[in-house]
Amino acid sequence: MNSSISPITGPDTLGLSRFPRVDICHQPTPIEPMIRLSEHLGSAQFYIKRDDCTGLAGGGNKTRKLEFLVGDAVSKNADTLVTQGAVQSNHVRQTAAAACRYNLASHALLERRIADTACSYESTGNVLLDRLFGTQLEFRGPGLDMNAEAQATCKELEATGAKPYFIPGGGSNEIGALGYVSCAQELVHQMATMALDFDWIVLATGSTGTQAGLVAGLHQLGYQGSVLGVSVRQPRDKQINAVHSLCQRTLTKLGVDDEIPVSKIKVDDGYVGGGYGIPANSTLEAITIAARYEGLLLDPVYSGKGFAGMLGMARADFFKPTDKVLFLHTGGSSALFAYEDVIVS
Ligand SMILES: *Cc1c(COP(=O)(O)O)cnc(C)c1O
Repeated sequence: MNSSISPITGPDTLGLSRFPRVDICHQPTPIEPMIRLSEHLGSAQFYIKRDDCTGLAGGGNKTRKLEFLVGDAVSKNADTLVTQGAVQSNHVRQTAAAACRYNLASHALLERRIADTACSYESTGNVLLDRLFGTQLEFRGPGLDMNAEAQATCKELEATGAKPYFIPGGGSNEIGALGYVSCAQELVHQMATMALDFDWIVLATGSTGTQAGLVAGLHQLGYQGSVLGVSVRQPRDKQINAVHSLCQRTLTKLGVDDEIPVSKIKVDDGYVGGGYGIPANSTLEAITIAARYEGLLLDPVYSGKGFAGMLGMARADFFKPTDKVLFLHTGGSSALFAYEDVIVS
């Protein structure tokens, strides 16, 4: 499995080749300048790393995590991937596609986390694609412990003779986070070869694996800039603790005996709006700006909120004029179609 991984993403300083991995991700993902947006904001130089272009089934950040999660599943001879997410989960879509690539069955529990959704919310966007990939979908009401529900489903599948492999929501455990340790290696290599040093890396943070893996990797590689997560759901302190905890567990997985200072985990919770999956006005504005200045597709649940955070900080003169700011585009545009009624025309 490992032999097919392309080495062009830079040196494997942190030894990721030790871990089982499958090859499903287009990498390195490009880094592009956002020239018109930078002119418009007039406050710093803005760039974007296109993890919306990871290549699997519409792309997105879960593909990097799934390289290690599916690698682990295959190495344990599993035959079924079991996971969970909100109804319009990008993670469930990418997991369903990865399962197809490795001839695994897939089973996903979708939580009806949001009230008053459009009538097509449970049939279009990511759900349509989940069905195309033949994943077995089950819906659940809001507020359950969804990881516990998915583990109960694993037990039921085991009783029928299947070999399920449990993937937590968002693929966020220390195995999935290795995908963003890999991204950190790739990014440090890109910064060196492009002679570009980013002062800030801004991204949307939800189930925490992306920020945790990125910070763990960048910290070990001596990156001097800051990573800022824009929360899509939880209040700041809760999110910081959750990211920090997974960051530490990821370092342990890497065999590194080091403490990440909590101060390295930066989170802004000012762009959550009405809650998970409910776009705020700032989210919708960010989606429109990214589309009309840069021809980019953001999404109403994650990257729209992350981008809104970056715009808000730029407008508040948070960045120095000489700062180079990188937005990590984590994908999600499939969900746009499930929000037809709120996306500005
Ligand atoms: C899951 C997701 C995120 C958040 O990543 P986490 O690792 O869950 O914090 C951000 N953007 C998109 C589009 C996602 O699907």
